[in-house]
Amino acid sequence: MSKTSQQIVTVPQLASDAGSEQILAAGLAAATGPVSLACSFSVEDVVLIDILHKVAPEVRVFALDTGRLNEETYEVAEALRERYALAIDWYFPERQAVEQLEREKGLFSFRANLDNRHECCRVRKVEPLGRALAGKGGWITGLRRAQSVTRTGLAAIELDQANGGLLKINPLLNWSDEQIWDYAKEHCLPVNRLHRQGYPSIGCAPCTRPIREGEHPRAGRWWWENPENKECGLHR
Ligand code: SF4
Repeated sequence: MSKTSQQIVTVPQLASDAGSEQILAAGLAAATGPVSLACSFSVEDVVLIDILHKVAPEVRVFALDTGRLNEETYEVAEALRERYALAIDWYFPERQAVEQLEREKGLFSFRANLDNRHECCRVRKVEPLGRALAGKGGWITGLRRAQSVTRTGLAAIELDQANGGLLKINPLLNWSDEQIWDYAKEHCLPVNRLHRQGYPSIGCAPCTRPIREGEHPRAGRWWWENPENKECGLHR
């Protein structure tokens, strides 16, 4: 069922210590249309796929293939497909937009300035995300407050005005690094090999590097930019 202007979305108010399954249940009950999980194949997303497999297997999983992902990320996608018989809904950028971008500005235009970087993220991520979310009542993310200065104000369930007023459900918002890794270990989950190579955050290959000791977990994303710019437009 697609959301119409007549349907009023009520954002559930949850206790600050609400657990991930409670957040998921409240979000799924409140959504006025189908809900999907956005998967970047980070350990957080793998944890969420495992939880959803147990408590809400009807939730579909979608992923954005920007054309610049690491091989290791595709390996996790295949491991998940086999383990859970998971049909991942892949979304690609519009072919003509990528062709135009690369013909006019080359393959690394995003390094030149913030406008160029936003342009590349818009073409490869934001536009496909819009198609992935069309007709949805909500989406689930693996965002956590501890990940970034841009994410400290995250709520368990938000109204995502930037994407047309659907619900954005963040079941892991209060999870620590330790909780995430303990869960992955306990359930023998397939984990992106990049994490073990110093990548706490998984993104496009040319825009993500391993972090050094003592650096913030998202320091390796667009490392040439200021911390307050370190979002790609997917989470506004
Ligand atoms: S993360 Fe980098 S390569 Fe990926 S879409 Fe954004 S600018 Fe382009």
